[in-house]
Amino acid sequence: MKFETQAIHVGQLPDPTTGAVIVPVYQTSTFHQQGLGEHKGYEYSRTGNPTRTALEQVIAALEEGRFGLAYASGIAASAAVLTLFKAGDNIVVGDDLYGGSYRLFEKVFKKFGMTITYADMDDLGSFRKAITPQTRLVWVETPTNPLLKLIDLKALAAITKKAGVLLAVDNTFASPYFQKPLLLGADIVVHSTTKYIAGHSDLIGGAVVVNDDELYKQLKFYQNATGAVPGPWDCWLTIRGLRTLSVRMREHNANAVYLAKFLHGHARVKKVHYPGLPSHPQHKLARIQMSGFGGMISIELHGGLKAVKRFVKPLRIFRLGESLGGVESLMTYPAKMSHGSVPREERLALGITDDFLRISVGIENKEDLKEDLSGALAAI
Ligand SMILES: *Cc1c(COP(=O)(O)O)cnc(C)c1O
Repeated sequence: MKFETQAIHVGQLPDPTTGAVIVPVYQTSTFHQQGLGEHKGYEYSRTGNPTRTALEQVIAALEEGRFGLAYASGIAASAAVLTLFKAGDNIVVGDDLYGGSYRLFEKVFKKFGMTITYADMDDLGSFRKAITPQTRLVWVETPTNPLLKLIDLKALAAITKKAGVLLAVDNTFASPYFQKPLLLGADIVVHSTTKYIAGHSDLIGGAVVVNDDELYKQLKFYQNATGAVPGPWDCWLTIRGLRTLSVRMREHNANAVYLAKFLHGHARVKKVHYPGLPSHPQHKLARIQMSGFGGMISIELHGGLKAVKRFVKPLRIFRLGESLGGVESLMTYPAKMSHGSVPREERLALGITDDFLRISVGIENKEDLKEDLSGALAAI
């Protein structure tokens, strides 16, 4: 089965009790046992719930992995991966990443005695150098949030395999439609399903996909033991969303390519970060590693914060707000929103300047979107 078909059918057989074509919302905390320990595979909904099972199976299929696990948020999914490690273990992290992931590493897991080392996303060699005998995991995003940098996953996987450490990839920005890290050598894929996978900005969710039996067993144990599971309704909504992932991603991509070209040539725009532009430093890699460039664009304006304030005021279609990946277009100011938890000096050192904006291109009509941006740029 191909991607589009998998999204609509994997884990979603007609309901065995009624024949319902759509997976039901099994809104129950517990399941009847016919006798002591006699049940139909479900005992208690933290441990397992049929609506969640459907979601876990279809997400695993979309990533071409064997096992999927669903979580209450993307951050809960990330935290679940980190529960695999212990005090004294080292984790090497790519230096451009979602602010909440940075906060999770720095403010939560460091406290438990893990050490975190940041490697330069522009230099594969810095990952090789950062790995020590204590290192257990390398964690990257690609494309990164918010600078949209790419890293060569095949080359990075060769480094982690040789060193005997795990490679985790946060695949939220690309979505499995455009990039499948497990096929490129990663061991663990992490998602904020809040974004493209659910795709309608109406829930918070996360997922992890792996191939290794032992890794799955451990993750499954911690999922139940720490309990950050999504409820059946959110699982159901996520399934409903991801059934159209392929069509949505094609539109996100087409609109973003169109708008990136427009922004690239605009006098008021200092810089456009978009892997689909030939000017992007890893454009060639994007063409090989991804099957599309995605719907995320970042821009830097001329004129600092003042220009940003003038620019966002007249926007009528692009909504100013956090998050991404929904059908509607969103505009984010990372310095104060998604990356508000990163200290200013570090943020500037990374390249998230005061006139930096991140755009989640929705699937509205591309001419309407262009007109909206064009009007806002004129207002600077
Ligand atoms: C949003 C996001 C997360 C966190 O996910 P939540 O669902 O908000 O908890 C993690 N990684 C990336 C790349 C994100 O964009």
